[in-house]
Amino acid sequence: MTEKYDVIIIGAGAAGMMSAIEAGKRGRKVLLVDHAKKIGEKIRISGGGRCNFTNINTHPSKFISNNPKFSISALNQYTQNDFINLIKKHNIKFHEKKLGQLFCDESAQQIIDMLLLECNEANVILKKDTKITDINKADDKYFIIVGSEKYLSDSLIIATGGLSIPKIGATQFGYDVAKKFNLKTVKTLPALVPLTFSEKILAICKELTGLSVEAIVSFKKIFFEEGMLFTHRGLSGPSILQISSYWKLGEDIKINLSPKLDVSKFLNDKKNSSPKQEINIVISEILPKRLAHIICKENNVVGNICEIPNKALEQLSSSINTWAINPTGSEGYKTAEVTLGGVDTNEISSKTMMSKKHHGLFFIGEVVDVTGHLGGYNFQWAWSSGYVAGRYA
Ligand SMILES: Cc1cc2nc3c(=O)[nH]c(=O)nc-3n(C[C@H](O)[C@H](O)[C@H](O)COP(=O)(O)OP(=O)(O)OC[C@H]3O[C@@H](n4cnc5c(N)ncnc54)[C@H](O)[C@@H]3O)c2cc1C
Repeated sequence: MTEKYDVIIIGAGAAGMMSAIEAGKRGRKVLLVDHAKKIGEKIRISGGGRCNFTNINTHPSKFISNNPKFSISALNQYTQNDFINLIKKHNIKFHEKKLGQLFCDESAQQIIDMLLLECNEANVILKKDTKITDINKADDKYFIIVGSEKYLSDSLIIATGGLSIPKIGATQFGYDVAKKFNLKTVKTLPALVPLTFSEKILAICKELTGLSVEAIVSFKKIFFEEGMLFTHRGLSGPSILQISSYWKLGEDIKINLSPKLDVSKFLNDKKNSSPKQEINIVISEILPKRLAHIICKENNVVGNICEIPNKALEQLSSSINTWAINPTGSEGYKTAEVTLGGVDTNEISSKTMMSKKHHGLFFIGEVVDVTGHLGGYNFQWAWSSGYVAGRYA
């Protein structure tokens, strides 16, 4: 049996649903398909169940891509304020948590329900639990095969996302489609992901499991000042997740565990003002006790501060202000929030998200080589790129 549509969208995640709504509103006959049984799983688990759906500071500089200018057009065509207005229209209550990050007051499910309602109002036909066995183009029409059925369309939008969290449905489908149509892709890597370490650092992390500190974590000239968390597998927390998107295997990251203080000066002053104070106690004034203790142990410093040579104090202060460590890797796609790389932006028009080589073929959302920082930027990219494709498909 063959069914004809104006637009077929593969992937009913954030970007796919947004593009379906916009295309449907234009009167296009839209089919939205997903292989998952449940729609919007990534939205549901995002932001700790409250979905950090956008960021009021959205700006192209918050996105990583081989072409840093690629996101400008879509982000201008559909801004964070446009999405906030949609949320308000549906009476979903939200709040700013920090750094411009907007979260639902109640539940991420409200975002999914809102998108499904909008899809319904735009007459989008949604097919869940749908396995596509073939996809191609013939006589200027795209088609997908699902079992014994063939669905034809003028426009085909690929919104199958990245590789992170395979257990809730992530596949490399979108990259395979790009290759099938001879479009280049940029190497993919897990990003916004906890980092792992060799035995010595891992032992420290294990001992400090559960401890969170404010830290500046940097890689070369890029740095983030946010929370950092010690875990039994290595380091996590926002500042580590952010730097993981930039860090390159084999290179060091630097951690400033006391960003507001020049520890070298602090220790010099202490040596003069409180020479009899025990070094552990001195360091506990600026760092959590457990961390202070382990740093003193690792630096082999014990006793009163007046008894510790200046050179050893210097080494101690640099291990607090510029702790250089070499990650051995990351936790990979099973915990990564996003995927770096994807369909090469040179292959796509930034104004429409349509392939330059294949009229009517669109790529949107995370499958494209545009990756946001942590903080609601990845959803904003999904909304903006989805909106744009929906306007032109
Ligand atoms: C744990 C976690 C928390 C996150 N929290 C946030 C947050 O708070 N804020 C933020 O901005 N970003 C967050 N992100 C990132 C964000 O979820 C993604 O960037 C965003 O969902 C990408 O949207 P997308 O539509 O491109 O892809 P997705 O939302 O991943 O949707 C892709 C869809 O395609 C479907 N699909 C895949 N393969 C096939 C196939 N072969 N056939 C049919 N369908 C297929 C999938 O089932 C899925 O429904 C988080 C990610 C994770 C993993």
